[in-house]
Amino acid sequence: MKHIEMKEWEKLARKYDENAIPLYVSYPVESFWKQTVDPGKYANSLKQNDFSFLYFHFPFCKKICHYCLCYKEALKEENDIDIYISYLIREMDLKLDRANIAGKLKARHMHWGGGTPTLLTPAQIEKIHNAITERIGFVHDEVNEFSLEAYPDENIITQDKLFLLKELGFNSISFGIQDFDERVQKVINREHDVKTVRSLIELARRTGFRVHVDLCYGLPFQGLNELENTLREVAEVQPDRITMFPYAHNPFVFPRQKVIPNASIPNSFIKTMQAVMSDDLLETHGYVKLGLANYIRTDDPFFHDLQERGIKSLMGYSPHEKINFLGFGSTSISFIDNTFYQNNIKLEEYYQQIDNNSVPLEGKRSYRHNDDDFIRNVLIQKYILTRFKIDKKQFEQKFEIDFNIYFSKEIKRLGQYEKDGLVDLTNPDIIRITKKGEFFCRHIAHVFDTFYTK
Ligand code: SF4
Repeated sequence: MKHIEMKEWEKLARKYDENAIPLYVSYPVESFWKQTVDPGKYANSLKQNDFSFLYFHFPFCKKICHYCLCYKEALKEENDIDIYISYLIREMDLKLDRANIAGKLKARHMHWGGGTPTLLTPAQIEKIHNAITERIGFVHDEVNEFSLEAYPDENIITQDKLFLLKELGFNSISFGIQDFDERVQKVINREHDVKTVRSLIELARRTGFRVHVDLCYGLPFQGLNELENTLREVAEVQPDRITMFPYAHNPFVFPRQKVIPNASIPNSFIKTMQAVMSDDLLETHGYVKLGLANYIRTDDPFFHDLQERGIKSLMGYSPHEKINFLGFGSTSISFIDNTFYQNNIKLEEYYQQIDNNSVPLEGKRSYRHNDDDFIRNVLIQKYILTRFKIDKKQFEQKFEIDFNIYFSKEIKRLGQYEKDGLVDLTNPDIIRITKKGEFFCRHIAHVFDTFYTK
């Protein structure tokens, strides 16, 4: 992207500032999930018995990072995790019993997220893993991904723990690194050095794990140099996948961020240049961009499937066109029968619901896709944010619509993006997001998002 002048990037970054645009982790974004939950419908939906993903949420962390947007809790008492695991098991029983599917439910992939799931001791890992596999079966007709998130801390990621996880079927681990720069780490309350991270990555590899790394750009005090140094260190160890998350600074919504000085946040121009620089650097190190801010090596077992059929979802990029996932644990999200459901967000309420023998769903945190949402979800998550291209004919066949009529208003609005060189509309059958436009693709997705335009 070196041929594009700095001045032009600056103009685009100011005009299409992505700070006010959602990350599109889901469509519609979570703040619009306001429908009342129907537990009967939920139980009925579970009867489909075959899920792409199971998600288990472990909310506890040793200490809290100031920048974090995840649902998490600081570990207070020694037995916090034991208590939580006992509730997770009760939740599984409640859900399976209510749907009358004990022993019948099947899934393909499993992900443990948090929080910090690697805080679990080997005994706790074995306990919850056994409880899961005693109750839920796995379809073994392809590469099953059993993955977990990890804080790179040598005191909690031990060789024994990794061996055990591998033995239990886990094959992929995501290290949250974010940035190696000391000043950046200090202000976000997260510390780990290059040497430790490297040795943990090597240990995970030797134990047979595929290694993913999460980095963040737009962090406080993070300039282009800081991020470039981090990227070079990371690219040298060649993780299988790298995700670049944009930091969202919003202290009104996330009060913990108030300790981060506003003046330390890179402006939209620096942030855009960080994304551009990361893209160039990772490509020169052999990575292929897989949709919005995700980079993959070509020897990844899912590479071809993801390239051909990949779609973005709350569970990351999936090779399955039809995605459904079932979440367990406080705050976890399920997507079943085109409906989002979220478990209780507050841990005490999650415990209380289970003590009351109720499925622990948050009362007004649900959203069912109508036909139009369904179409727009595929358009945004699969075509815009994953492929950077909309093939109108393919879309028309799939949904039996006349694309130009159905999206006439949106196509009109794309005119300004075309003038700025972000989309190419010259082929009447294809809307192509240009290489430059890839850095503003959330804006392009926003054009098709009726929740905001309403
Ligand atoms: S970034 Fe990870 S370790 Fe830090 S508070 Fe959030 S969930 Fe916990």
